[in-house]
Amino acid sequence: MTNATPESTKAKQFPPGMILGPDGKPCKICTAFRNWKPDTAAKNSESSNKPSSFTATAGVMSELAGFTKASSRPDTPPEGCPPDVEQLGRATWTFLHTTAAYYPDRPTPRQKANMYSLLSSLPILYPCTHCAADLGENVKSHPPDVSGRVGLSRWLCERHNEVNEKLGKPIFDCSIKKTDERWKDGPSDGRCD
Ligand SMILES: Cc1cc2nc3c(=O)[nH]c(=O)nc-3n(C[C@H](O)[C@H](O)[C@H](O)COP(=O)(O)OP(=O)(O)OC[C@H]3O[C@@H](n4cnc5c(N)ncnc54)[C@H](O)[C@@H]3O)c2cc1C
Repeated sequence: MTNATPESTKAKQFPPGMILGPDGKPCKICTAFRNWKPDTAAKNSESSNKPSSFTATAGVMSELAGFTKASSRPDTPPEGCPPDVEQLGRATWTFLHTTAAYYPDRPTPRQKANMYSLLSSLPILYPCTHCAADLGENVKSHPPDVSGRVGLSRWLCERHNEVNEKLGKPIFDCSIKKTDERWKDGPSDGRCD
């Protein structure tokens, strides 16, 4: 993964958390929205000699709206904007885990080949380039298990956990009970029925 560290970007001063693409330029789809221009509000309010009541009110409102103190940017892009790395990730995982949950117990050779092809394409086509590169390494050592929905759900859960671990997110229980509960059946309290 290529992150803009102070050492590597002395000349250009990229914001922390911004991810650079293979061309060395900021990669929008590789970066969380909040990190794309994180200090816009901070700069604006610092440059104002007399903070107005509007600035103070806007600060409170933005905090209430879930903005961070250092930034006026919400965590997710506004409605109608292209996805950031997190929205793309959530949508992709939703598609993949749901597809695995509904994959046949006994897939035909054609279904197996198509699933294998779909999963093998991700490291080549996924637009977040550093995500794709890491996934490619991961898939090399753990080839997709397309034998049936139980094996596929576990394989995918484990790949997702490798990303979770890298990002410091909680590790998911990869038993079929838990993956089915999350992606197919919903919890036993019936709140999703
Ligand atoms: C192939 C791929 C690679 C990625 N690589 C990167 C990367 O290198 N850097 C980066 O910043 N982002 C990466 N992402 C995005 C990242 O994984 C998250 O999608 C994003 O950070 C949003 O996280 P989230 O907390 O909303 O939940 P997500 O991780 O998107 O998970 C969505 C939901 O899935 C469920 N879940 C969580 N873990 C599992 C699991 N193991 N099995 C089944 N269900 C689970 C949870 O209910 C969770 O709410 C990648 C995404 C994909 C699809």
